[in-house]
Amino acid sequence: MKTPLKPLDDALAELLAHAAPLAGTETLSLFHADRRVLARDVVSGLQVPPRDNSAMDGYALRCADAAAAGAQLPVSQRIPAGHVGLPLAAGTAARIFTGAPVPEGADAIVMQEDCTPLDGERVQVNAAPHAGQFIRKSGEDIVRGAVVLTAGTRMGPAELGLAASVGLAEIAVARRPRVALFSTGDELVMPGTVAPAQMPPGAIYNSNRFFLRSMLERLNCEVLDLGIVPDTLAATTEALAQAARECDVVVTSGGVSVGEEDHVKPAVSRLGALDLWQIAIKPGKPFAYGHVQADGRRAHFIGLPGNPVSSFVTFALLARPFLLRLQGMRDITPKTMAASAGFDWPRPDSRREFLRVRWGADGRLARFTNQSSGVLTSMVWADGLVDKAIGQTIAAGDTVRFVPLSELL
Ligand code: AMP
Ligand code: MG
Repeated sequence: MKTPLKPLDDALAELLAHAAPLAGTETLSLFHADRRVLARDVVSGLQVPPRDNSAMDGYALRCADAAAAGAQLPVSQRIPAGHVGLPLAAGTAARIFTGAPVPEGADAIVMQEDCTPLDGERVQVNAAPHAGQFIRKSGEDIVRGAVVLTAGTRMGPAELGLAASVGLAEIAVARRPRVALFSTGDELVMPGTVAPAQMPPGAIYNSNRFFLRSMLERLNCEVLDLGIVPDTLAATTEALAQAARECDVVVTSGGVSVGEEDHVKPAVSRLGALDLWQIAIKPGKPFAYGHVQADGRRAHFIGLPGNPVSSFVTFALLARPFLLRLQGMRDITPKTMAASAGFDWPRPDSRREFLRVRWGADGRLARFTNQSSGVLTSMVWADGLVDKAIGQTIAAGDTVRFVPLSELL
């Protein structure tokens, strides 16, 4: 009897249960911490802004001194950003600039567009202010002692800026996972070694190696690239053993189906065990997960299908969250959105399908015509994937779940 395929959500949950965060952190300059996963909470040692300050170029005053439009006040001081003024004398205004601390005693800023300087020493206030206007309060962004970034956050431009705004030059991040990568398939040829016109019959270029390496590197992995491994049990076993000795994870492409030329599964079973194999998704059914051991060292094994789109999609949906969780990242779920389908897909499927789609000019999703798992042009064309449930059919106008590619890379 055929064993039923594992639902994707169950497979992901099982995978993540194995993804115990790797031990080890490193301290990096903020200049080099983009995309890395924060290892410890960042706590602010100061208020941001540090003091009440002006949100405008204008005049700081007491509202009571300008209760009616047209009040005229002597200008008692000038406060540029970066300078602290004196307490504001009653009945006077201070010339003030954006970002400058509000002088003690002032309770509002009037923007310069609402004022008329009279003779350099006096100002006419043309609009009566209300208390607090255009004052940015101390701590309105961040209060001292607040956790501004939690451990497990992946750093991006905004997070880097925020860490800098509380005075950090360096942060502690999870170390890079070491990941061995190899492709299986005797038909594979590396681009650059044989010209297109000279390709032997049956040969194809190794495309998976390139996108997998790129995706791994974007996920902070240090890649041990073992290239193409011949389709033999011995060679596959040796490559997996090397990976177990030197790496935290080994990612393979191809050779995990059921044919006699598929040596990856038997090789994994020799060195360790397979925990998971065959997922109810399309493309990507042959995905496998397990572990391999050699010389007392152990590595996670992730076996991706050989078909390029299957490889790409299973990496994005399963390997990516796994590798991020190894780094302690908390929120690893891609953010999806409801979108309107601009196409029909009347075929229900017993597997959950991920269709390559793109935004159309009408604001609806268009579908790439050829959804075959070998058609890499579909991935280049696509803005994302439609996540189609088991048995679901799609008619134009239906609301569908869209996963932007940017959430998967
Ligand atoms: P496999 O999973 O090894 O049975 O491979 C499935 C299909 O994907 C076959 O048509 C292979 O030729 C193709 N394929 C496997 N590995 C790669 C690769 N690295 N680059 C491009 N195509 C591949
Ligand atoms: Mg193969």
